[in-house]
Amino acid sequence: MDKTPFLTKEQAEKITKEFPTPFHIYDEKGIRENARLVKKAFAWNKGFREYFAVKATPNPFILKILQEEDCGVDCSSLTELQLAEACGFSGSDIMFSSNVTPAEDYKFAYKLGAYINLDDITHIEYLEKLTGIPETICCRFNAGGNFTISTFVMDKPQDAKYGFTRKQMFEGFRMLMEKGAKHFGIHAFLASNTVTNDYYPTLAKQMFQLAADLRKETGADITFINLSGGVGVAYKPDQTPNDILAIGEGVRRVYEDILVPAGLGDVAIFTEMGRFMLAPYGALITRVLHKKHIYKEYVGCDACAANLMRPAMYGAYHHITVLGKEDQPCTYMCDVTGGLCENNDKFAIDRMLPPTDIGDLIYIHDTGAHGFSMGYNYNGKLRSAELLLCEDDSVKMIRRAETAADYFATFDFCGIMDKYLK
Ligand SMILES: *Cc1c(COP(=O)(O)O)cnc(C)c1O
Repeated sequence: MDKTPFLTKEQAEKITKEFPTPFHIYDEKGIRENARLVKKAFAWNKGFREYFAVKATPNPFILKILQEEDCGVDCSSLTELQLAEACGFSGSDIMFSSNVTPAEDYKFAYKLGAYINLDDITHIEYLEKLTGIPETICCRFNAGGNFTISTFVMDKPQDAKYGFTRKQMFEGFRMLMEKGAKHFGIHAFLASNTVTNDYYPTLAKQMFQLAADLRKETGADITFINLSGGVGVAYKPDQTPNDILAIGEGVRRVYEDILVPAGLGDVAIFTEMGRFMLAPYGALITRVLHKKHIYKEYVGCDACAANLMRPAMYGAYHHITVLGKEDQPCTYMCDVTGGLCENNDKFAIDRMLPPTDIGDLIYIHDTGAHGFSMGYNYNGKLRSAELLLCEDDSVKMIRRAETAADYFATFDFCGIMDKYLK
């Protein structure tokens, strides 16, 4: 995967004059081009729609861009639903895929007319009591076992808390029909961050077969199948990125093989990608504050795990470019750290970089999804700004950085922190 930053050092330095580091910045052009490619990949399916997983990048300006590219949104909580509503999404623009769902969340999703995706068979009665069963309803499927492509285990659905078992899908559909549901969707998310063009086609095969069986045994009218998220990106330079056109074509073949002969040739395909839609089109820009030589070499940045949690949380790899040193050989081995009082606050361990100096700007790649959104305030660290590199190369602030007043805002009732609350 080509790891050329979408910003030059000159551009980044200019931006820092107005917006101090650290910040996340998103590339509008990249986001739009990719969204169009996704649409093209599934253009063979009349009802196709991508429902962007809001949790990946919950920013109204980003949601508006995706809305202009004809995407819907996938929400997982009340506040995400509120964000979607405020951006003008409604009814069939919204999938509501949550689990351990609070009553308020269901009520609001129902009010918006969103597609409600039930995570468990017990939620049928729960929802019925709260709002009644909507005419169109979706059930989340958990296939159990291991999710395997040829002989490679991609993930273990048997250990995942989500969804209905196969038997429960049949039972659930029957219950829902009795309670007045007229149209059905099926959803499944069986493997995460897959970097292979075979994930969606393999998943689709399982889901299409299930749909055909459900249709045959229950007579339910299945109107959509949601392949959910899980399409990954090549975080590492030596990985081959997914080819969404090949993925769309792979799903089309399975559709022709299974759904069309089963009389289900009108079923709409939905996707619910977060990472694939945004990750490569965001970067975290941070400046080197300190260097330290003890038993190892450390490069300390003004960003920390509170701005990007994935490396600390999963040991995830994020590529790093030292801006302006793109052409220099990577001869310097170091750990790139933030300043949290947690030794896992490292963006990279034993990474080979060009010789790096205090004041250098560091570009951490692929932070556009599950980056800013997983942020937190540990050690009193404040959330950074989010910026948009617009198609005309201008830069727009799409979220301001937090201030101390934001951090202390939840003490506004007691007077103790008033001097910081302005
Ligand atoms: C997180 C999530 C997604 C998006 O996953 P990605 O890996 O970012 O594509 C989609 N659907 C559901 C239900 C999710 O929880």
